[in-house]
Amino acid sequence: MNVNESAKIKSILQNMGYNVIEDVSEADAVFLNTCTVREGAATQIYGKLGELMAVKEERGTIIGITGCFAQEQGEELAKKFPVIDIVMGNQNIGKIPTAIEKIESGDFKHVIYTGDEDDLPPRLDAEFDSKKTASIPITYGCNNFCTYCIVPYVRGRERSVPMPQILDEVKVFVEKGYREIMLLGQNVNSYGNDLETGENFAVLLEEICKIDGEFLVRFVSPHPKDFGDDVIDVIARNEKVARCLHLPLQSGSSRILKLMNRKYTKEQYIELAEKIKSKIPGVALTADIIVGFPHETEEDFLDTLDVVDKIGFETSFMFMYSPRKGTAAAKMDGQLDQEVKKERLQRLIDLQNRKSKEASDSYKGKVERVLVEGPSRKNEEVLTGRTSTNKVVLFAGDKELEGTFVNVKINECKTWSLYGEIVD
Ligand code: SAH
Ligand code: SF4
Repeated sequence: MNVNESAKIKSILQNMGYNVIEDVSEADAVFLNTCTVREGAATQIYGKLGELMAVKEERGTIIGITGCFAQEQGEELAKKFPVIDIVMGNQNIGKIPTAIEKIESGDFKHVIYTGDEDDLPPRLDAEFDSKKTASIPITYGCNNFCTYCIVPYVRGRERSVPMPQILDEVKVFVEKGYREIMLLGQNVNSYGNDLETGENFAVLLEEICKIDGEFLVRFVSPHPKDFGDDVIDVIARNEKVARCLHLPLQSGSSRILKLMNRKYTKEQYIELAEKIKSKIPGVALTADIIVGFPHETEEDFLDTLDVVDKIGFETSFMFMYSPRKGTAAAKMDGQLDQEVKKERLQRLIDLQNRKSKEASDSYKGKVERVLVEGPSRKNEEVLTGRTSTNKVVLFAGDKELEGTFVNVKINECKTWSLYGEIVD
């Protein structure tokens, strides 16, 4: 979501006549688009602000902070760091031109826009870094209130973008030559719950797949509790939907899942994952997993390892629990020591790495349809691309093939990338 919003911020600034440059010390305006899902982000933001102070002194650079950390901290952030000119939540990025004008007028010390978090943000153009992948938010906000999570507090209540608008955007991007459309939302499969027109995620996916053109559809994140058979069936019969599904697990212990307010048990999760695997052959599953949630015992953690072992995720995004102010879990007793969290995270990563290597090895000898992304960074003669399951593949080929789909026979498998050759 932040990458999508950064692409929009870029486009807004370009429309104002700014050019995007790499060297921050030469910039007239700098926007830091921030995250606050885990604590680590704040430290990075403070570090960056330190660097920017010197730049501002040198050339009067306008400094804007956008995103969830800005939304959470609001005016306090500008008070703490007077070097900041603009603080705004991402639902307000359409107001960047107004904010810059106000700062340039000299009449305002700071401009703070953190209201409207329950509104549907305006449609904005986006300047994506990739020529292959475009992303489209389909829902904003979240109503789930998982007890560890700050997102519902900084991104407001869930609201769905009307379906005709999404279909229009997909058509435009496909016509522009994008080959991969990424649908975004905190809980994509509750899409439409707030619409009176009766649309839901399965209908949306089906309609997107009817759009002409050669492209893949990906989406993040679905919530296991809302993953209905209708969605599984649409995916199963539409090759346009990528064979890589992200199914956030969070914990493998039913007891901890209850404390997290995830609304599924270990058994229900496993049953869903197995059903998806059997109905969508060749699908790769990935997950988000948190270790060290309050009250997590060794036994609970072993349940998490058990699910990772049984399901065999292709990759996982693994995090130590990080208390977020204002959330229910931050107030729970039974908080664990950092050392315990660290040790569990390492054991989880070790197991996941073994599972990722096993998943990689299963590609050996297969022919995969690969979307060519372009020459690899290390060697101009080698192309890099991704399978429908999102695995990176390297192979020899002409760079003219960029943006097309080719068939590649896989000869060698490493944990994070596959090596092969183009076949007919
Ligand atoms: N809406 C998405 C997740 C958004 S946050 C979903 O429900 O899957 C992305 C991931 O960050 C979460 O899946 C979770 O694994 C992790 N996360 C969120 N809050 C966290 C916290 N307080 N500590 C550690 N990890 C957290
Ligand atoms: Fe956070 Fe849960 Fe909403 Fe995901 S579903 S954004 S983890 S509250």
